[in-house]
Parts: sequence; structure tokens; C-alpha cells
Amino acid sequence: MQTYDVGLVPGPVSVPPELRAAYQVNYGSSDLEEEFFSLYQRCESHLGKILATRNRISIQSGEGMIALWSALKSVLRPGDRVLAVANGVFGYGIGNMARQLGMAVETVGFGYDDVPDPQQVREAAKRFSPRLVTAVHCETPSGTLASLKEIGEICREVDTLFYVDFVSSGGGVEVRVDDWHIDLGLLGSQKVLSMPPDLAMVTVSERAWSIVEEVGYVGYDALAPWKAAVADRRLPYTHNWHAMAGLHLATRFILHDGLPPVFQRHEAVAAYCRKRLQQMGIELFPVRDAICSPTVTAAKVPADWSWVELDQALRFRGLVLAGSYGPLASKVFRIGHMGSQANRDLVERGMDILEAVFEDGK
Ligand SMILES: *Cc1c(COP(=O)(O)O)cnc(C)c1O
Repeated sequence: MQTYDVGLVPGPVSVPPELRAAYQVNYGSSDLEEEFFSLYQRCESHLGKILATRNRISIQSGEGMIALWSALKSVLRPGDRVLAVANGVFGYGIGNMARQLGMAVETVGFGYDDVPDPQQVREAAKRFSPRLVTAVHCETPSGTLASLKEIGEICREVDTLFYVDFVSSGGGVEVRVDDWHIDLGLLGSQKVLSMPPDLAMVTVSERAWSIVEEVGYVGYDALAPWKAAVADRRLPYTHNWHAMAGLHLATRFILHDGLPPVFQRHEAVAAYCRKRLQQMGIELFPVRDAICSPTVTAAKVPADWSWVELDQALRFRGLVLAGSYGPLASKVFRIGHMGSQANRDLVERGMDILEAVFEDGK
């Protein structure tokens, strides 16, 4: 198997040795021991600070997609109306997931290189009166960062639940769950938190919990058991203690560094990455700088290269970047600079290799 010196894939990101160490020791039985429940509570409290919320947070075992499915299935019943605010692969994808679950879905759609316009969202939400509005903070495949405050206010105006995927921004960019009226906020461990893809987290508002109870969804990914899991000392399965120990460290590191400096570091590294690309004559994918995400940069594959050729040339020199998906496949490539990869020296090494590849040509 080939491995690379410089990894700048936007998730799963490189797991730093301090977090790997949490996986290399023995723990007890997560479903039986007091210590595990206290660890869970500390993780919940750290995450609450990072995401600016007093809401309870479910921490489930599984890849980030578990959070997306869990929150949809737990608050909806077939036939419910869902308004999917979409400006990228995940936004449109979440609408499709809800459709597959039998919901009546309307999409308020925008270009992949742009962000949602709240006025259009307001118009659609008033007319359609959905039970749930879904949105994505950072569209990882296209490198955009949407602003959510106004959409949250609209959700309150029309009295609907607000579901937000901040899987690739939470922890690296300011996310204010309570101020933005987010009822269901979704996070995965393999992005900014820089862990393996082991845990899926959902912030759940009081409004959302009461609907979870009403809907009564049961299944591996159900939210319901997490409401009282700690209070009742009852987990729906044997949890991943290693990952929970890693999460405790990962969140503690972020809080120890302080949120403003962490957000600032992500912004500075992203700005540096964009500057280097532009100096090489590479065009950024998002329509303007102000909507570029601090966690991932998406750029256009230059006209004289195919993505396959570029990817091969980079890997040959020890750098791994990412291509993109769906309509962006082979047109867009991405640099992930979140969490452990929000590191100026690392991104500099990556950009130096990219520059050398362009200078040498095919
Ligand atoms: C990573 C990610 C997810 C989780 O999906 P995987 O690609 O399966 O890890 C969900 N939403 C967004 C925006 C993501 O970046």
C-alpha cells in the first residue's frame, strides 16, 4: 500500500500521535463502568463549549454519516415535509436521503460555487411550511462556507426544526448552535477533531427531543436512547471507549489552545493556501473569497492537466490531495487544512510540491 509524506486530504485527516496513543491502551467495559459515563459527560461538556450550546449532545459510535441519517430518521415520519437548502454535494444529498426515507422534499438550490441566499430560503419556507429545514455549513466537496444565522431565524419564524451538517467545520470555524437556533447539529470525528472516523455527534435541542419522543424511531442509529443514556447508565450498545478517550483529548486540546486562536489558525492557513494557488495561476472554485471555507480549499484543475495526471504526479512526489464528487468530479481538486492539517508548515510543503509539479510540467 502506498503512503504519503504530506497528507492534505479533507477527511479523514491525519491523526496526531497524542490521539493515536488513546487507542493503544486498555480500558474496561464501556457499558458497565462509572468511569466511562463520566468520560462521556466530559466530552459532551467540551463539545458544548466548542459549539456554543447548552443542548444535550449524543455521541454515537460510527462514521459521520450516522449523524446525518440518525437525525433525519429520528425526527421525521414518511410524508413529512422537508426543505433542503442546497449548494453542494451534501446539501442536495441530504434532500435525497430524506426523499429515500419517504419524505415530501422540496429543494431550494444554489450553485455549487455559491452559498444559499436567505431571502429565497425565507420565501420557500413560508410557502412550503416544512417540518424540517436542512442546511450544510461547510460544503467539503466545493470548499464553501455558508452563513447560517439568518436561516436559523427563518426557521424560528416559520416554527420548523433546523438541521445543520457542520461535520467539516465544527471545531475549526465558529459554530454557534444556540444563537443560530440549530435544533440538530451534526459533527463527525474524522474532520477538524483529527480522529479516525469512529464517532458521530448530534446536538439536540429541547424542541427536537420532544419530536424524537413523538416519532419513536428505533434502530442502531436512533437518537432516542441517548437522551437518558448517561442519567440511566444505559447504553444501546457497547461503546467505543478508545474513541471516546481520543475525543476527550481532541476537544481538550482545542479548548486549551482557545477557540479564537484555533479559528484564527484555520483562517490564516486557508488564506495562505489560497494565496499560493493564485500565485501559481490556479483559479479557486468558489465565486468569491468571502465564502471560501477556512477548513478546505477547492480549486479548478488547470485546463492543461487532467485530475488523474495531476493526482499521479503529486503522489509520485509524496503529496496526497483530493479530487471531488458528482458534477465536480475531475474539474475540482481540494486541499484539506482542518484540525491537525491546519498547519502552515505542512500546507507550505504541500504547496511547494504542487508548484514544482506545475513547473516541471507533464
Ligand atoms: C465528511 C462529511 C460528512 C460525512 O461523510 P463521509 O464523507 O462519509 O465522511 C458529512 N457531511 C460533510 C459536509 C462532510 O464533509
